[in-house]
Amino acid sequence: TDAHLSAIEAARVLNAFVMETPEQARDMARAVDEKIAKGDAGPLAGIPLGIKDLFATKGVRTTACSKILGNFVPTYESTITSQLWRDGAVMLGKLNNDEFAMGSANETSCFGPVGNPWRREGSNTTLVPGGSSGGSASAVAALLCMGATATDTGGSIRQPAAFTATVGIKPTYGRCSRWGIVAFASSLDQAGPIARSVRDAAMLLRSMAGHDPKDTTSVDIPVPDYEAAIGKSVKGMKIGIPKEYRLDGMPAEIEKLWSEGAAWLKAAGAELVEVSLPHTKYALPAYYIVAPAEASSNLARYDGVRYGLREQAKNITELYENTRAEGFGAEVRRRVMIGTYVLSAGYYDAYYLRAQKVRTLIKKDFEDCFARGVNAILTPATPSAAFGIGEKGGADPVEMYLNDIFTVTVNMAGLPGIAVPAGKDAQGLPLGLQLIGRPFEEETLFSLGEVIE
Ligand code: GLN
Repeated sequence: TDAHLSAIEAARVLNAFVMETPEQARDMARAVDEKIAKGDAGPLAGIPLGIKDLFATKGVRTTACSKILGNFVPTYESTITSQLWRDGAVMLGKLNNDEFAMGSANETSCFGPVGNPWRREGSNTTLVPGGSSGGSASAVAALLCMGATATDTGGSIRQPAAFTATVGIKPTYGRCSRWGIVAFASSLDQAGPIARSVRDAAMLLRSMAGHDPKDTTSVDIPVPDYEAAIGKSVKGMKIGIPKEYRLDGMPAEIEKLWSEGAAWLKAAGAELVEVSLPHTKYALPAYYIVAPAEASSNLARYDGVRYGLREQAKNITELYENTRAEGFGAEVRRRVMIGTYVLSAGYYDAYYLRAQKVRTLIKKDFEDCFARGVNAILTPATPSAAFGIGEKGGADPVEMYLNDIFTVTVNMAGLPGIAVPAGKDAQGLPLGLQLIGRPFEEETLFSLGEVIE
């Protein structure tokens, strides 16, 4: 814990932590020491972790990196973090993220952007760590913590993991409790770990997963020993290569990495099959309707009365207006407006309902594929390596949204997906591959992920 606290101090320039909690960390570490002395240590005894600022932490400021929650100190602990502390992990502090987890570069945070510890060869340009869990990925990659919690609504665990050569898994929807996590789009949101290795990710997920009566969408089935999946043979597994993910204009190095990944799995005894996911091209537009729709509804609670920021006003309407105009950043306001529009009476059928139908078709594409005996699907994790801060999405937000092209389908279908570091581009930046699994078969992803790692 001490070593990590010093590392955090020395790496403040990355802006990965928005709040350091050294005192709590040392208290927690001492308490774990006492437990170890009594022979009562949990599976994560003494493991120092960073917590994305979307997880409610009792008595410790939790802001979702939004000005509107700037002074919010929860009186409760999220289910996931309580389970980590139950198992002996230690909290080092809260990690930066895109405001309300909306973004792909960690540039929408009210605390400012996060730096990626990786650099292009021969360049000093600071690169983004990806988003929205940019603080989590940067902190793990820079060895400021042994692992971090993260959340993924459309790629926010897997894309930052790919940009920083870390491992990130978004479990099946319902595998982890969402209780005590600031909501973005509730039917897509799922938490998971970002870690230094596939094995570490397996150990962390085991502690984070499980049924929670406080989240009715969490599923009551046993949590397997994920670590036992590491090193398990993948012989005979059928791996789908979806032809629709071979995009026009895809960089040659991504294409090459994808073939290499397939070859490694084949060498380990897996069988490769070409599969078709015909509705892939509609996933991104449908996601950017469903996610903002749910966000506009979830964010209605930030009214200046119940939480955080409260602006001066003459009447209640003005209180809402002033608080929300002052408290939400530009990207969040854009999502609320899009969401409100697509849910409005005149446009509901044309946009929201249509997007929900597309979502069902995307889910069916995957079901058909798994019904043909496919165990997992291999794709690139991102269409490019990390880019420079301020380099993308300035004039056109869609340029940023395109980053999520390989990841959003997985959330739309509620499936588990893991991003594993697999190689580097010509400038020495990390690139990741993604494996998508059958519902609640995260073990398969750990076994296959370890082959690629
Ligand atoms: N980049 C996507 C978005 O901005 C996904 C974010 C996430 O997964 N939280 O919506």
